[in-house]
Order: sequence, then structure tokens, then C-alpha cells
Amino acid sequence: MADLSGQSDIIVVKIGSSTLVNAEGAVDRVFIADLCRQVVALRKLGKRVVVVSSGAAAAGMERLGFEKRPTDIPSLQACAACGQAALTEVYADVLRAEGIACGQVLLTRRDVVDREGYLNARNTLERLLELGVVPVVNENDTVSVAEFAFGDNDMLGAIVATLIGADLYIIMSDIDGFYTANPSTDPSARLIERVERIDADTLAMAGGAGSAVGTGGMLTKLRAARALLAAGIPTVICKGRQPDVLPDVVGGKQVGTRFEAPRGSAHESPRKLWIGLAEVPRGTITLDEGACAAVIKRGASILPVGVVATEGTYSVGDVVNVVSPEGTLIGRGTIRYSSDEMVRVRGLKLDVIARFMPEKEGQPAIHRDELLVL
Ligand code: ADP
Repeated sequence: MADLSGQSDIIVVKIGSSTLVNAEGAVDRVFIADLCRQVVALRKLGKRVVVVSSGAAAAGMERLGFEKRPTDIPSLQACAACGQAALTEVYADVLRAEGIACGQVLLTRRDVVDREGYLNARNTLERLLELGVVPVVNENDTVSVAEFAFGDNDMLGAIVATLIGADLYIIMSDIDGFYTANPSTDPSARLIERVERIDADTLAMAGGAGSAVGTGGMLTKLRAARALLAAGIPTVICKGRQPDVLPDVVGGKQVGTRFEAPRGSAHESPRKLWIGLAEVPRGTITLDEGACAAVIKRGASILPVGVVATEGTYSVGDVVNVVSPEGTLIGRGTIRYSSDEMVRVRGLKLDVIARFMPEKEGQPAIHRDELLVL
């Protein structure tokens, strides 16, 4: 593989809790120190690095003396509050010794849902990088409520990568890559070195919904990688504890699984990516086969005639999920009809709709420019 060191300028590195915590369940300072050393090595190659770090809850349990992970939300959030401080301390200490400032950035989905918040977050991260700081990003667990939670740092990392137009996203996992099946249950599973496209078959290899790996797991990593394929940002999933894994990945060695769209494929605009990634979907529309094919193969707008069902309560301008007749998510876009209107217009041609809703003349359900096809 070509040496990528000249191309990968901004790199987002995400580390999962299971990698940051040692066998005793405590935050592994030795590992974080080594991780920071690798980040410093990347900076010496001229890279700017953003670290997306989980582990706050685990660090807080340790600091507050909880033996087990508490189950009530206030205690968990208290753990996150103390743990975040403890975690940042470790990153800041190690980086300071290298003469580098560490900046703590806590985000919730609420911060990036409105366009202004999204742009603010982007400006902050860009300025930190310009100033030579290593931003350490995490979800703001102490305030996020379910609706506004990213749910998983794999996706938070992907959003950060699109926000700042990263050149590479590296997910440091407890496993050395994406396999044809879950290797912990299927001994015949093989590591896949390169993935150019993520479809339903690919997602099924991660166990799909209902697998034992409830939250996180390989599925959320694939979803994050899929979003970044649309953004034209390569993702590498690798084993976080493999020595010098970051310089190796950036140096172009074959490490883990690399997700990258074929050369020359079209990339989505930042606005569409924001619609697809940052916004909270308010509902779902189900398309018929014909509309699905038109959207996927021809990049067409979605017309009300191709919509067979609608779910949820949404207004004009909200973001909704777009699913196939089988219920597979195929995209996400800004809807031009409210949910009440959609009930009345689905399955109808535009000229018929114009007869009883003249103000909607010629309106697609979702315009192609406001639709991110996944
Ligand atoms: P992290 O904490 O590093 O983010 P997770 O433990 O959430 O990682 O996810 C990685 C785990 O996903 C693996 O250890 C493995 O048990 C599971 N998994 C499920 N399907 C696959 C697959 N096809 N390839 C690799 N790992 C898989």
C-alpha cells in the first residue's frame, strides 16, 4: 500500500472504554501514556490529531470508590463528572511533559443539532488544532439525555471527523479489525482487510440487531464507517493495544480493516452530512421498491407517490429516516411535508396533490440535495 503519511493531515483517533480500562477495571494510565506518545509521534510527522476518548464513567467509579457500575442515572452521571476530570488530568499530564497542551471538548448531540452549534463546534476544534493543541473529545455524559445522546463514541468520532474534514478516522478497538463474523463466537471468522461499501450483508456480519453485543460492538463501528464512506473519509478499525499501531496505520502498513470508497467516487456535501449524522430524526418514511431504486441508483428526489408509510410526528424541515420496504435504513433527509400532511399525500402523484394542497405544488417529499443516501 502507498505511504499515506503525506496525505493524512488531520486524524481523529477514537479509543473505546474496554481499551482504556485495565484488567482490574481501573483507568490504565500506562496505556494512556503510550497512546499520547504515539500521538506525539504523529505530530512529528506533521499530523494534527484529535482524540475521542471514552472511559469517563470507569475513571469516576475508581475515583469515587464504587465497586460496581452504579445503575441509577444520577450516580452514573456523577461518575462521569469526576471521571472526566480524572481522565483529562491524565491526558493533560502526559501531553504537558511533551510540551503539548491538551484541550477538553465535551459535546452532546444537542450542540451539533442546530446548524449554528455545529459550526461553533467546528470553529472551536479548528482553532485548537491551529494553536497546536491536542483536543480530547468526549460525550458530555453529565448532561445528555437519551434523545440527545450520541449513544456511542464511534459515531461521535465520525461526527467530529466530518466536522473538521479529517483525512482519516482510526477506531482503536479491543479487536484487531472487522471479521466475516464475530470471532468470539465463530472460530472460522476471517479478518477483512479492506471494505469499499457497507450494505445489509456487511452489517449482518456484525451480528446485526439482537446480537449479544448490545451497545457499541462492531455494528456501531460499521455505521460510523458507513457514514464516513459517504463523506470520503477512510476509517481504520485496529487493535488499540497493538504496539505503535497509530504510526503503523498512518504510515500505510496493512493494519486491521480499512474502509475506503473506491478512488474517484463522489462525496457528499458537508450540509448533507450534517443532515445525515448530526440531526435527530423525528420520524420515518417507508418507500416502495421503485422509489428505493430511484434513490439508490439514480440519486433521485423522493416523491410522495413512492412513500408507502409514515411514522412519528414531524414538521416541515425536520429530518426523517428513509427506509426500504424491508425496513433497512437507506438514508436520512429533510422532509418537506409535516407528518399529518404526509398521511394525506403518500402514494399520490404531484398533480393530484396540487389539487387539494396548491401551496405544495411540485414539492418532493425529500429533495435530493437534502437527502443523505447511506
Ligand atoms: P470497543 O470497546 O473497542 O469500542 P466493542 O467491544 O464495543 O469495542 O466492539 C468490538 C467487539 O465486537 C469485538 O470484540 C467482538 O466481540 C464484537 N464483534 C461482533 N461482530 C464482529 C465482527 N464481525 N468482527 C469483529 N468483531 C466483532
